[in-house]
Amino acid sequence: MAENLEHKATAAERLLEDSEKSDKKRLWFMRSVVIFLIMIFIGGIVLGAVSILNDEGQQDPDIPADAGAPPATAEEIIAYVQAAAAIAKQAKPRLTVDTVFYFDNDDGRSYLDTLKFDGGQSDLLTKTAKFLAQSIEDQLHTSAPMQEIDFGKDYGSVLWAMNVTPEALAETKVEYVFYRCRICHREDSEAPDVCPECQSEDAYRPAYRDNYTITLTFADPETGTAAAVTKNFHPRDAAQIHALLNGALDKFVTIQSVATRHHNAAITAEINRETQQIRSLCFAKDVDVSLHLLPQGDVSFVGDTRASLTLRESTNFRFDWPEVRLDKTELTMKTHETAALQAQAIAPEGTKITWSCPQEGIVTVDADGYVKSGNQYGEADVVASFELDGQTYSRSCHVWVKNAAEDVTLNHRKLSLAPGGSAQLAATVKPAKATIKTVTWYTEDPAVVTVDETGLVTAVGPGTAKVYALSDDGHYRSSCAVSVKGGNSNGQ
Ligand SMILES: [Zn+2]
Repeated sequence: MAENLEHKATAAERLLEDSEKSDKKRLWFMRSVVIFLIMIFIGGIVLGAVSILNDEGQQDPDIPADAGAPPATAEEIIAYVQAAAAIAKQAKPRLTVDTVFYFDNDDGRSYLDTLKFDGGQSDLLTKTAKFLAQSIEDQLHTSAPMQEIDFGKDYGSVLWAMNVTPEALAETKVEYVFYRCRICHREDSEAPDVCPECQSEDAYRPAYRDNYTITLTFADPETGTAAAVTKNFHPRDAAQIHALLNGALDKFVTIQSVATRHHNAAITAEINRETQQIRSLCFAKDVDVSLHLLPQGDVSFVGDTRASLTLRESTNFRFDWPEVRLDKTELTMKTHETAALQAQAIAPEGTKITWSCPQEGIVTVDADGYVKSGNQYGEADVVASFELDGQTYSRSCHVWVKNAAEDVTLNHRKLSLAPGGSAQLAATVKPAKATIKTVTWYTEDPAVVTVDETGLVTAVGPGTAKVYALSDDGHYRSSCAVSVKGGNSNGQ
C-alpha cells in the first residue's frame, strides 16, 4: 500500500501540475531563460536548461527522431541558425530582447568584490571599490532596458546579425536527445542503468526534444578570434565599455583608459526541429576589463590607480510564434461534471479564442472554456483556436469521461519459486466501478523472473526481483517480490 501511495500521481494530474508550473515559469520566463543560458555557460548545466527551454513545446506531441537529420558540421550548424533567424525576420513573430550584466562571482553573493584596485586592498580601498562597483552595477542595469517588438513589426537592427565562420569556433553542439524512464517517466540527459526515481533497471529509452538546443562556443580570443567575437557581440569593444562605465563613474572617477578581453563567448539557439522556427537566440560572454582610473572628489584619496573587473554579459532574444497555449492537454471527468479550461492566444492583442468540440454527445464546451459532461462515458477533444492572417492556430485537450482508477493491488506480495516454476498473479484496479481496469505487467529483472501479459510469472534463475502491475489508467503500481531458489517450486 505504501508503495501505491508513492505512485499516486495519475498521468492527468502530472500534466496538470506541469502546466501549472509552466504558467508560473512564464511569469519569470525572460529572466530565467537568460540566467539559465548563463548557467550553461558557467557550469555546463545543460540538463536543467534543456528542460526549462523545452517548456514551451511540452504540449506538443514529441517530434519523432527522424524529423530530418540534424545539421552536423560547424558550417551546416551555422547556416541552420542563420536560416532560422532569417525565417523569423521574414515571419515577424513577437520578439523580446533582454540584456543582463553580472559581475563575475562564484558564490553568488560577493559580486561587488570583483572590482579590485592594484596595490593591495586596505579596508578603505575595499569599501571604495564596493561603492564604485555598486554604481557600475546600477548603471548596467539601466543601460539595457528590455525591448519588445510586436507581431508583424520589422526587427530592423534590433536583432543582431550573426557573423560566424567555422574557424572562429572551438566547439559546436546540437542537442535534442534525452532519456525517459518508461516506468515512472523521469527524464535525464543520460540513461542510468537503474532509475533513481523508481529503481527500475534498464527502463530508460531515448526520447527527442521538439527543439534543437544549438551551442556555438567561440575559440578563446587569445588564439586570434577576437575579431570574430567583437563582430557578433555587444558591447563589443573597449570604447563601448568605456562609455558604459563612464556613465556609472563620472562623479567619482575619471577613466583614463580601458582595455578589454572577451572570453567564454557563445551563441545558443533553440530551434524547432520540424518548422525551423527559432525560439530563442542568446549571445553571452565574459569581459575582463582593465581600467586606468583617476579618482575624484570623495574618493580622490585613492590616487592615480589601476583597477580590474570581470563582467558577464548575456543578451537573449526570445521569439513568440503565434500559438494557443492551453493549461491542460488531458482532462478526466466524471459524468455530470463541469471543468474549466484556460487558453491563451500568443498573438496580436485582441485576438479572440474560440472553443469547440468536434465529437458530439460526450461533453460540451461554452465560449469561456467551461467543459460539461453529460451522462455518457467516452472520450472527446475540446479545441481552443484563433484565426490570424487566414491561418487557424489551435490546440486541443483530450477529455475522458470515466470513473478514474485510484489504486491497484495484487493477490500476492511475495512469492518463492524454484527455477522453471510458475504462479499466477492477479491485479485488482480500484474502485470497483473504475472504467478502465486493465494493467500492464513488467519485471524488474528478466534473468530472475519473467511475467506475461496475463500476470503469469515464471522463475528463470536464482535471485530476487519484483514483478509489477501498472494500471493503464492513472499509472498506479503494485509489486510482488519473487525469490527464486533451488528446491520446491510452489508459491508463497
Ligand atoms: Zn523510473
